[in-house]
Parts: sequence; C-alpha cells; structure tokens
Amino acid sequence: MKITDLIHHSYQPPQGFEAPQIGVHKASTVIFSNVAAMRTREWKDKSGYTYGLHGTPTTFVLEERLAALEGGLQCVLVPSGLSAITSVDLALLQSGDQMLLPHNVYGSRLAFTQDELIRFGITTRFYDAMDAGDLAAKITPKTKLVWLEAPGSVTMEFPDLPALVRICREKGVICALDNTWGAGLAFNAFDLDGQGLAVDISAQALTKYPSGGGDVLMGSIITRDEALHLKIKLSHMRIGFGVAANDAELVLRSLPSIGIRYRAADQSARQLARWLKTRTEVEAVLHPAIDGAPGHQHWQNLCQKGSFDHVNLARAATDLIANPASNQGLAAGLFSIVFHEKYTQAQVDAFVDALKLFKIGYSWGGHLSLVVPYDIPSMRDPKVSHWPYRGILVRFSIGFEEAADLQADMQQALAHLA
Ligand SMILES: *Cc1c(COP(=O)(O)O)cnc(C)c1O
Repeated sequence: MKITDLIHHSYQPPQGFEAPQIGVHKASTVIFSNVAAMRTREWKDKSGYTYGLHGTPTTFVLEERLAALEGGLQCVLVPSGLSAITSVDLALLQSGDQMLLPHNVYGSRLAFTQDELIRFGITTRFYDAMDAGDLAAKITPKTKLVWLEAPGSVTMEFPDLPALVRICREKGVICALDNTWGAGLAFNAFDLDGQGLAVDISAQALTKYPSGGGDVLMGSIITRDEALHLKIKLSHMRIGFGVAANDAELVLRSLPSIGIRYRAADQSARQLARWLKTRTEVEAVLHPAIDGAPGHQHWQNLCQKGSFDHVNLARAATDLIANPASNQGLAAGLFSIVFHEKYTQAQVDAFVDALKLFKIGYSWGGHLSLVVPYDIPSMRDPKVSHWPYRGILVRFSIGFEEAADLQADMQQALAHLA
C-alpha cells in the first residue's frame, strides 16, 4: 500500500504561486476525466493536452514565444536543429520531387538528402546562393521545396535573400529558411522588405543562441500558414519526435536574454574580425557585417537598412543600450578567416592547437568561444561553388570572454604559424 500511496500522492500545485518562470511539466500520460473527453480531445491545436509527445504546458509556452520572436504564428519543436530541417523535408516531399539546396548549405544535412531521401526517390540539386538567376533557372515543375540559408554555413556568403524569396514566390515553390544564424533577431524572415515578403518556413537550431549554454539540442519549425503548419505537425506526430521538458525549460530560461547575448557576441566578433583583417597572415575575413566580405551589401540591405518594425523587445532594448545613435545592424558572433595560401594545413592546425581560450568543437552560440578548421574544396560541389581562395579556412564562434583576451589568444597562436 505504501507504493500505491506514493503513486496516488495528493500533490497539488501551490495555490496562488504566480512565479514568472514556467513550470516544468513532464508527461507521457495525460489523464482524461472520462472516455468522452478522451475521444473528443483535440491535439492539433493548443485547446487541450492528449499525450506528452504532442505537447505539455511547458512546450506550448516555448512554441508560442519562439513563434512571436521570429514573427511567425505556429511552431513545432523537434529534438535538434538537424531534425528541424529533415522534418520539413519529410513532411513536404514525395517520390519524384526535387529539392533545391544552396551551394553553401549546412553540411550535416547533406547525408540525409544523399543517403536517405534518395532512397525514397527524392532528388536534390544545388544552386549558387549568390546568383538569384541560377536559382530561377534551376526551378522546374519537379521542384517542390527550396531551402535558403543566410549567410551560408562556414563560408558565410550573405545572399540577396529577398530576391531569392521573390523567385520562389513567383514560381509558386515553398521556400524554407535555415534561420539559425539570424535567430529571429538579425532580420525578420516573415517580413523581409517591410511589405510582407516572407519565407514559408523558418527552421532554427535552438541549440545555438536560444539555448546559449552549449548543453541543449533542440530545433524549431515556424510558419505563418495554418495548413502548412498542420502538415508539418502531422508528420512530426507520426514520426514521434518529442522534446524533453527539462530541455524546454533551459531554452525558456535562456530566451529572455537572447537579444543581449546576441548583441554582445556580435560586438566582440566584429572587433576581432576587424583586427584579423589587419593581419598579413590573413587573406580574407568572411563576416557578413565586415566591409569586403562576400554578400556584405546584401547583409547591409537586409540587416542594417532593412525594416525592423516587427515586435522584438529584446532587440529594441539592446539596440538602445549598445547603440543609442547609430544603427549597426545585427550579425551573429560567427565568422571565418582564410589564411594566406603560403600556410600549409599543418601550420594552420598548429595555430588552432595553440589557441587556449578558443576550444576546438562544433556548434556555436554559447558562452565559450570555439574554433574549427574546414577543408572547403572537399565540402562543396565545384560546379556551383565559386570558392576563390587557395588558403585554409578557420571558423570562429565568439563567446562571452573579454574580446581583448580573445585577441591576445589569437595573437599568440598566430606566432605558431611560422
Ligand atoms: C547547428 C546548425 C544546425 C543543426 O543544429 P543541431 O541542433 O546541431 O542539429 C542546422 N543549421 C545550422 C545553420 C546550424 O548552424
């Protein structure tokens, strides 16, 4: 009977306990008051709870806050950023369909298209993200989904996003943006021109800035169209993707400070990028907000001069603190450099190994600065990728250490190049 008493413990949530932080509600089972309630309970919207996999009060709040932050209306949570991307593919594509990906797409999603989707007769082609005409030329009646990324992964070229979206609109093809870099802060994916030009879907790795701690894997899929949302949600439910309540709680806890963290990382990253530009060892600095970087003008048009009138209190507040007079635009604290071609892979590896504050590791958007060297020619299709450099690329994610300390760390590590 003791065990039964434990299970039937008469727990009640504290009366009048109106703490601002949302409770962590964990469930597989949700109890119905009677059979009729069970049969009629609706799981497709937020009018009721049916099963832990379909949402809890904790995940519903996170979904609503993320949708509001990005300027969307609906949100589906998934267990990683990668699964946000693959869930969209699975929900929308069928045998015979073709999908278009930017040439500089997030690399880890390639295996899914090339080794999994292909088994279902779904093919993938690449377009040059920096050439809107190339996208227009590659859309055929078979094209059912176009993925966009701004900027591209690792090489950081910022595309003319409004132009790419306009082409998808004109051709009537669904376009989905991997919005991890922008995080709903640098630009509004659901209003790119101040007149409502919008992507259909914004997928994000919450693993990055929304979590901000380097300790959560999660993704979101945000839409403004109920039918499209339902299609994704149905597929999501059938696959059985859920997110853990404790992980949702961590993201809910980090989310209110995302604007401040994003801005802080941005400022340090730009300071370091500008300094690296003065170094003779460095051939190119690939940071969309830095003059001369590929797509800098597109970044300026969208993120600096663009319309930011969607409701975003976090950003408005940090803008006022950081830049009372000027509009610096926003960019993630992420950038790459290309070393002068005279440096060998071994020398660049020695530079990376010599860094002390920068840790070698994937992902980004947390408090800890990270570094990864990449071999671009081996990652890209030479037919669509204009990679003009012969030097070796190294990507930095800037955390919250003092920028001066990070610069000193880079400086001492550069001595190891020789
Ligand atoms: C990290 C990342 C992802 C994948 O996120 P995970 O949570 O690590 O699966 C997808 N797209 C971009 C641009 C990313 O940086």
